[in-house]
Amino acid sequence: MSAKFNQRLASIPGYTPGVPKGQTAEDVAGSDLAQLASNESPHPPLPQVVEAIGEAATSMNRYPDPDATRLRGRLAEIHGVGPERIAVSNGSCEILLAAGGAILEPGAGVVYAWPAFSMYPNLAAMAGADEVRVPLAEGEVHDLEAMLAAITPETRLVMVCNPNNPTATYLPHSEVGAFLERVPPEVTVILDEAYIEFQQGDDPSGSVRLVEEFDNLVVLRTFSKSHSLAGLRVGYSISSPEFKAAVDAVRQPFSVNALAQAAATEALDHEAAINGQIAASIAERERVEAGFAAIGLETAETAANFSWVSLGERGEQIEQAVVADLAAAGIVVRPGRLLGGPGRLRISYGTREENDRMLASLGESVGRHS
Ligand SMILES: *Cc1c(COP(=O)(O)O)cnc(C)c1O
Repeated sequence: MSAKFNQRLASIPGYTPGVPKGQTAEDVAGSDLAQLASNESPHPPLPQVVEAIGEAATSMNRYPDPDATRLRGRLAEIHGVGPERIAVSNGSCEILLAAGGAILEPGAGVVYAWPAFSMYPNLAAMAGADEVRVPLAEGEVHDLEAMLAAITPETRLVMVCNPNNPTATYLPHSEVGAFLERVPPEVTVILDEAYIEFQQGDDPSGSVRLVEEFDNLVVLRTFSKSHSLAGLRVGYSISSPEFKAAVDAVRQPFSVNALAQAAATEALDHEAAINGQIAASIAERERVEAGFAAIGLETAETAANFSWVSLGERGEQIEQAVVADLAAAGIVVRPGRLLGGPGRLRISYGTREENDRMLASLGESVGRHS
């Protein structure tokens, strides 16, 4: 007899890493591989942030502050809310998973758009809850009307990914606000804003003001993308104090390590430099999107640091060959087939040189297979 495991284990989707099999992130860092598969920042962390990590390293014999008091205090100040509304976490994924644990159970339901973030299917699977995936509307945007229609008395959680991963599309906060007016107040809405800094139409603080208006709204942010700290794992939520207390109850007290707390706190003091990096990514976005158009490839309207590229009518047939050609040229992208969008590629913006290399190889490959 072998050991017995939770029956739900079989239904939990595994994570497919963006780094090629057999290679580690360290291998990628030292190589000229263009890692365009995980929507990371191509900019290394700021020198002041690296220095803060070094300083914090000297007290690693101590446990971190379980309340992340300094980091939560700074975030509260910046967003103009009380610290009791801020939960920081080991990447924003920790809050997502903790929300599943705190809110869902067998018989309860969760609603989300599809394709959206690949982690969402884990929530229902881990809790043994029921899920409804609502197909995206025309233009690969969330179909909020259909999502409202999918809410039943069993529904406890709705996820809205904005800008959406993998399609990069964005819904204005005014539409999210109108949606919240119609969601029953006992249903928690998680607004996942991992890429909010890269959209230019809305003031990012608009969603935080919605949290003050709607007690059931949770805004999720991360230091992984715009703040170049994916490797340290820091994210946070802005919510009601009740939601924060609920996620704290289902996770370990020391989930955000001391280096991560120090680095994120320091990064918040350098918003001008970080905004400069974000602006550089947005400039690359315009160039890369023009490059896709020049090859004859259509994309969804992007408000993020990546594009969702359609490979055309024969996309499903050529997707694997194109991904293999790019990999052979040292360029890693995400096959849409793994993200709920066969016939497409999700491509993050790298450095200017990486983007040029990607466009040249992609053009060549698509030309050959079409
Ligand atoms: C990258 C990403 C996250 C952030 O994950 P972390 O755990 O904070 O690194 C969250 N949501 C979406 C949609 C993402 O793409």
